[in-house]
Amino acid sequence: MDFETRAIHEGQEPDPATGAIITPIYQTSTYVQDAVGEHKGYDYSRVANPTRHALETALASLESAEHGVAYSSGLGATTTLMHLLNPGDRVVLIADVYGGVYRMTSQVYEPKGYRFDYLPAEDFTNLAEHLDEQTRMVWIETPSNPMLNVIDIRAAAEAAHAAGALLVVDNTFATPYLQRPLELGADVVVHSTTKYLGGHSDVVGGFAATNDPTVAERLRFLQKSLGAVPGPFDCWLVLRGIKTLAVRMRQHCLNAAEIAAVLAQNPRVERVLYPGLPTHPGHAIAAHQMRDFGGMVSFLAESPEEAERIAAATRLFQLAESLGGVESLVEVPARMTHAATADAPFAAPPNLVRLSVGIESAADLVDDLEQALVPAAARSR
Ligand SMILES: *Cc1c(COP(=O)(O)O)cnc(C)c1O
Repeated sequence: MDFETRAIHEGQEPDPATGAIITPIYQTSTYVQDAVGEHKGYDYSRVANPTRHALETALASLESAEHGVAYSSGLGATTTLMHLLNPGDRVVLIADVYGGVYRMTSQVYEPKGYRFDYLPAEDFTNLAEHLDEQTRMVWIETPSNPMLNVIDIRAAAEAAHAAGALLVVDNTFATPYLQRPLELGADVVVHSTTKYLGGHSDVVGGFAATNDPTVAERLRFLQKSLGAVPGPFDCWLVLRGIKTLAVRMRQHCLNAAEIAAVLAQNPRVERVLYPGLPTHPGHAIAAHQMRDFGGMVSFLAESPEEAERIAAATRLFQLAESLGGVESLVEVPARMTHAATADAPFAAPPNLVRLSVGIESAADLVDDLEQALVPAAARSR
């Protein structure tokens, strides 16, 4: 079955007890057993819950995965994945990794003896030279947050495997509708379902999927043992979100492409970062490994002051962290989502503006950006 059909039906059969077409929110912590150890597959909701199981089945299918495990947040998924490693192990990450992941690696795991090296996107073309015997994991985002860098997933997987390392791809920006890393050789795909998968800015959640049975068994064990599990209502919200993922992503991509083109023409914009633009260094790879180029657009304003002025001057684009909802958002990563990277090997440029382009009317969104990009002096004339 096609993606759109699986998003609506996979793991979401009508409720066997009542016929309810929508998977119920099984808001329960425990399950009554017929005899000691005799139950219907559920004994305690940290271990298993039917609403969570439906979400894990549906999302795994969308990522072409045999196994899916849901977590309390994207960082809940990330910290669980870090427990696949031991102190002394080395991880190579893309330099402009999500700020919260950098905070975790540098301030939580590095002091415990884990080793992290951050590689600029352009150095991934010779990734093999940067891996050694201690490297157990390569961690990429593509497109990356917030610089929209693109990494060749197939090439990264080959280099990682040659060094005996796992390739983890954070697929939050692309979503499985646009890109399926496991099909390209990645070992694990990880998500913040808070973003496009939930899609309505009303839930925080995370997810990981794999086709490696050993990794899957360990992730399931760690889910139960570390306890970063999502509640049933949150699972239900994400399950509801993914039913419309395909139609939402199509509109996000159309709107973002139009906005990127308009911004590229604007004299007050120094540079637009959007993989859909032929001038983007990752355009050819993105065109090859993605169905379309996504809903995130970043651009460099003339100065840090100008970036902050623009972010405050938009009216439809609300000034807020997060992304991937139906409503458009604007932010300045250096002062907001990526403040934790200020003294990192990679620091978000202070004049960078990041847009999460929603699914409102593209014409309205363009009008909003154009009025915000007119400087105050010209507006008062
Ligand atoms: C938001 C985000 C995360 C963290 O997810 P949470 O759900 O906020 O914990 C990780 N990676 C990327 C790319 C993100 O955008």
